[in-house]
Amino acid sequence: HLFSDPAEIEALRGNLLAWYDRCKRALPWRTLGGIGASTLIPALLPAVWVSEIMLQQTQVATVIDYYNRWMQKWPTLQALAQASLEEVNELWAGLGYYSRGKRLQEAARKVVSELAGQMPRTAEDLQKLLPGVGRYTAGAIASISYGQATGVVDGNVIRVLCRLRCIGADSSSPAVIDRLWDMANALVDRSRPGDFNQALMELGATVCVPKAPLCRECPVKQHCRAQRRKLFGKPTPVPDVEDCGVGGCPLCPPAAEPWDSSLGVTNFPRKAAKKQPRVARTATCVLERRGCHGTLEYLIVQRPSSGLLAGLWEFPSLPLAEGLQEEKQREVLADHLRAWTGWPVVAGGLRFIGEVVHIFSHIHQTYVVYSLPLDGDVTLDSALSPSRWVTQEEFHASAVSTAMKKVL
Ligand code: SF4
Repeated sequence: HLFSDPAEIEALRGNLLAWYDRCKRALPWRTLGGIGASTLIPALLPAVWVSEIMLQQTQVATVIDYYNRWMQKWPTLQALAQASLEEVNELWAGLGYYSRGKRLQEAARKVVSELAGQMPRTAEDLQKLLPGVGRYTAGAIASISYGQATGVVDGNVIRVLCRLRCIGADSSSPAVIDRLWDMANALVDRSRPGDFNQALMELGATVCVPKAPLCRECPVKQHCRAQRRKLFGKPTPVPDVEDCGVGGCPLCPPAAEPWDSSLGVTNFPRKAAKKQPRVARTATCVLERRGCHGTLEYLIVQRPSSGLLAGLWEFPSLPLAEGLQEEKQREVLADHLRAWTGWPVVAGGLRFIGEVVHIFSHIHQTYVVYSLPLDGDVTLDSALSPSRWVTQEEFHASAVSTAMKKVL
């Protein structure tokens, strides 16, 4: 399962880099992202840092526009350090996983105020010193922006390496992940580490894709054991270094789930079954009024500064206990709104609009949506969460989640 032949490693690096030079996608962070910009002008915000944080759990096509707006607004560490969380959330609105933006900004503050404006330049320091920078992001920044010969392991790299070396044990288990990191560190090209890492990830994103990999076009197919196994069938019955599947190898597929020839190379990687997301229900009320020019306005309230969707704005909402009947739901929401606005809100006055389902990574959330038109002003207790009235246009420009946009 390992790369032990130095000549093969050399050949793989050469093939992969030549392919990358020919075929890489033109992505905005690649223009400024390589070794150079951040090294020559240390005050610049490293492009790869922003793009890698945005790309976590998010598609490239979605990220491009957010990335361009972010870099235009905060091109330097200093500029980002001075931004408010509100501004960060407004720009991040719709990208999901909001703590990423918050931590990026906190990390820029830390660099400016505690590290004399100097970005850490090794993977070890980046991971140790900057909030929100894990092992993968640290490796990406250190290799791409600062030229450190260190590997990276993300979902794409896991898939490519598991196929190259027929690793069929649970690819999310710590033991397998550790071996993949060792492999990535051994493979990374010493003179072009950033390009090599990007090439490996690019291969996973465009050629060695999850469902129908383009093996014929693959620049490293001659090094791929999954491909060899697909083409030549079962290896020889006598186990050798390439066929360690006999006798509890920790990297081979488990005995109960052997190679399935109908799957070909997509036998790899394998993952343990995903945990089911938690199911949650929340009652939410769109309070509306006519503003001074007769324009419809909505009341939004700010969420607490920590936890899920920290600091974002939403319609007044209330988590519902499991198995609550519709009538009861309406009553608890009316009680909540009465206590909050001081208005004599009655359950019968709430109009049921419908349900909105939104899937967060680990929560299957249903919003039970009501509306309540109000005449006259509502004075809210300022000791409670911050709140404000917004027009539809202002609502969309505010730091609101995609789920709340669906609710509206
Ligand atoms: Fe992936 Fe196919 Fe290339 Fe192997 S040959 S690395 S399975 S695309």
